[in-house]
Amino acid sequence: MSVNVVWFKRDLRLNDNAAITDAINRNLPIICLFNLDSQRISRSDVSAIHIEWELDCLRSLSEDIQQLGGVMKFNYGNIFETLESLHLEYGLASVIANEETGLQWSWDRDKQVAEWCNFNNIDFVEHPSNGVVRKLKTRDDWKKHRDKRVSAELHPKPSSIPSPTGSFSDEIPTMDELGLTSKSLENRPIPGEDGALSNLNSFLNERGRGYRKGMSSPITGAVMCSRISPYLSAGCLSIKQVFHHTVARQMQVKVDPRSTENLGFTSSLTSFQSRLAWHCHFMQRLEAEATMDEIAINPELDELLNRKLDQRKFIAWRDGKTGWPFFDACMRNLTATGWINFRMRAMLQSVASYTLWLPWQITGLHLANLFMDYEPGIHWSQVQMQSGVTGINSVRAYSVGKQSTDHDPNGDFIRLWVPELAEVPTEHIHEPWLMSQAEQEQYNCRIDIDYPAPIVDEKAARKAGISKSYKAKGDAAVRRRAKIVFDIHGSRSRQSGSSRN
Ligand SMILES: Cc1cc2nc3c(=O)[nH]c(=O)nc-3n(C[C@H](O)[C@H](O)[C@H](O)COP(=O)(O)OP(=O)(O)OC[C@H]3O[C@@H](n4cnc5c(N)ncnc54)[C@H](O)[C@@H]3O)c2cc1C
Repeated sequence: MSVNVVWFKRDLRLNDNAAITDAINRNLPIICLFNLDSQRISRSDVSAIHIEWELDCLRSLSEDIQQLGGVMKFNYGNIFETLESLHLEYGLASVIANEETGLQWSWDRDKQVAEWCNFNNIDFVEHPSNGVVRKLKTRDDWKKHRDKRVSAELHPKPSSIPSPTGSFSDEIPTMDELGLTSKSLENRPIPGEDGALSNLNSFLNERGRGYRKGMSSPITGAVMCSRISPYLSAGCLSIKQVFHHTVARQMQVKVDPRSTENLGFTSSLTSFQSRLAWHCHFMQRLEAEATMDEIAINPELDELLNRKLDQRKFIAWRDGKTGWPFFDACMRNLTATGWINFRMRAMLQSVASYTLWLPWQITGLHLANLFMDYEPGIHWSQVQMQSGVTGINSVRAYSVGKQSTDHDPNGDFIRLWVPELAEVPTEHIHEPWLMSQAEQEQYNCRIDIDYPAPIVDEKAARKAGISKSYKAKGDAAVRRRAKIVFDIHGSRSRQSGSSRN
């Protein structure tokens, strides 16, 4: 007997899955395989939140596969041990997968799998599945390739999946069964493809109406943003699917933009489409430079900035105990839910890098652990941008005070997430350290006892960070490198310009 293996990685879906379509067209029985890499579990950028989400999505995929007559094999360990044993049992004709844009370790693993297949005379096939172009020759052509890719026809969901006679599926284990500790999150999304599609539909037809204006606040953003990111990172949805669904909705809106059901959607859907393009744009950076979690794309600039780890500042930042109410509320909200909107993510990172002058590798790692939607290509590109180590983006250091008064003027979000400030009235909520002793007693919030005093003078520290950054950016070697960085990574489109997002 001979079989084909479909190796699922971060593409946990049956709709628009090039690998499964290809396997079905080859007319051999199929083994669907998922390997939970033990190497991955031990990585510092991977947390229980990611693994548990992935297992839940995988369980849903496995049920869907079995309903179509297919089998899903699961292994926890090394991909080679499972490929070896499947090869012994069935004889593998090919291993078919979708391309993954990941950090260096995943490249190395994929290369070794290719070599193993080659050695064993097994076909190893990888399909492009998003807007990232492998072996891209020049960034100048990238947008053309990306637009062609995402607008191409979707792969249909298979109507049945042939499996080898007598084969059976493995149970997808729980975290407990794997000896891993789970982390409970508030408002966790429904895992799997059905959850992904119903989430996308509710955004395109209802929640997204106020997206353009509502996305910047952590309060409105939680409802009005699409919240598709965890589905994209596990691959329950492809970028292509999201693009197609959005285009269909845009065409519907265009017919009668002022109708009750369409009002507000025109500009929101345009903004949404540009963010989908940013997704691919940033992922493409990691495709070209797989060490972005450790090395700045402008290493000369990073070296000149010379940020140092100050444990006291790092712990206050990490635990949401900086003494800046809005900042602390955002960090605690993220820790509890695994998600926060873009602007607040940018603030969390930029405060770490500019105001507290902490090394971005360490603070970026902490955020990666908290984000349920951790996507290395977007994450490390954004961490580097918000830390000013690319040399091609503008210096943008967020003021906590401004974000606080702009996005939580009455302090409701602060009171919800920082209960120490629950009784503090609006006039003091953004700067509680300015309360008199009597006011602190009256509102049950004694500074430095119940709630910390600001870790540093925010305005002065931010200004110092900005001026050090401008000085370093002017250095000749940094500017020379910036030209190279732009050639490889810079956005060529004015709308989706990398310095604007
Ligand atoms: C420091 C930092 C780290 C980040 N880390 C991640 C990460 O690990 N994973 C992740 O998916 N996003 C990351 N982002 C980008 C962005 O914040 C999230 O994609 C977004 O908040 C997810 O929520 P949503 O799906 O509701 O977004 P929506 O606003 O509804 O956007 C839809 C999709 O577009 C893409 N997108 C949106 N904004 C951006 C952006 N600025 N850059 C690239 N793609 C974008 C995402 O795929 C997102 O799911 C990070 C941003 C910053 C500043």
